[in-house]
Amino acid sequence: MWFLPLGGTGEIGMNMNLYGHDHQWLMVDCGVTFDESLKVVDGVGVGPKHDVVCADPSFITRQKENLAGIIITHAHEDHIGALPYLWHRFKCPVYTTAYTAEILRRKLARDGSNPNIPIIEVKTDETQIIGPFEVKWLNITHSIPEPHALVINTSVGNIFHTADWKIDANPVVGKPFDPSPFKALSKQDILAMVCDSTNATRAGHSISEFQCYQGLKQLIDSAKGRVVVGCFSSNIARLITLAKIAKRTGRYLSLFGRSLQNTVGAAKATGHWPEDLEVIDSYHTGYLLPEEVLAVATGSQGEPRAALSRLAQDSFRDVSLDAGDTVIFSSIIIPGNEKPIENLIKRFNARNIKTVLADESEYTIHASGHPCAEELQLMYGWVEPQVAVPTHGEQVHMIANAAIAKQSGVRRSLTGKNGDLFMLAPNIGIKREAVSTGRIVIQQ
Ligand SMILES: [Zn+2]
Ligand SMILES: [Zn+2]
Repeated sequence: MWFLPLGGTGEIGMNMNLYGHDHQWLMVDCGVTFDESLKVVDGVGVGPKHDVVCADPSFITRQKENLAGIIITHAHEDHIGALPYLWHRFKCPVYTTAYTAEILRRKLARDGSNPNIPIIEVKTDETQIIGPFEVKWLNITHSIPEPHALVINTSVGNIFHTADWKIDANPVVGKPFDPSPFKALSKQDILAMVCDSTNATRAGHSISEFQCYQGLKQLIDSAKGRVVVGCFSSNIARLITLAKIAKRTGRYLSLFGRSLQNTVGAAKATGHWPEDLEVIDSYHTGYLLPEEVLAVATGSQGEPRAALSRLAQDSFRDVSLDAGDTVIFSSIIIPGNEKPIENLIKRFNARNIKTVLADESEYTIHASGHPCAEELQLMYGWVEPQVAVPTHGEQVHMIANAAIAKQSGVRRSLTGKNGDLFMLAPNIGIKREAVSTGRIVIQQ
């Protein structure tokens, strides 16, 4: 039994994990990341590249007949984004739940590629036999509809793959976190727990998505003019929160940016959007009084072509912002994006448009979707795996995760990076740099 990450271990982004057993492989997630390194033209740096990249899949495409299937745990770009570009190299069935399947179908339709991907829709608690792997989907909480953890059973050992998660008692979308299926795992003799490390360096417990409702409502209540909120377009819970606030504060909610309209469309199609919450056509925003406007916009990371950048440059088609309006960043600053976000803020402030950043605000206006130390400790205590395998993090996060596992009574941990072969059964060990890895550009 092997675990072999091709992407997402030793870095945050472009997850591509392989599990190997009995001459076959199972892929878990197939995501992208953004290359923000300096673009050089004629020897001169001309700004960040913004290339969309993913893990080099050569290792598995060379033996694609041994790939039994691909599982997508949830619809975040770092888990699903590369699949439309890479699937033709694998040509095997894709297993995922309804919301993620809907997002995938929309991506394929948009790209026009539309290959006939066999998508097998799975429900919570369902088990699928994929080659020599028996996989069970467990409902968990994160920052997107239908996040799932996996239990991968084989004849030589059982793996618990957490995927992205947090413990959220009120996630706004989906059921509250329920510890019982995880407590039950201790009786199943879990060999390895492959676990999200993103926030392992943070003490305590993550903030519940519900707390953002109160913080954002207070801010929006006190705002005089238009309010535009920048947030990740996949965060349906935050969008529902904002739609509720619009209703309670006499504003109309509109969505600036295609990816926001797309995810709300997918949420409506799969029953995740409350029917009483209205969204108006972005085109109508320009005809409303300023105090009636609440818009959500793409581009909270300073992406040059997204709605927030266009609003900052006053070149957005549907509306112009004026002095006295407010722009709220209901998101984190992803490391590497500090400069473009700073430029965006300067542009707004130069026009006397107020800006509010999550890190600097006295109100809670963003909640992370990943577990802090206390949550990791609880999960290790419930599952009691023999080995902890930290993933989904940079070295510093994975080392912190391994330390928490140790404190929680897990006797061994394996910390490595992309291309390392994690041997889980019959012997436990790690073969460093067993497979050559890298990244490929899929969109410039
Ligand atoms: Zn992720
Ligand atoms: Zn995620």
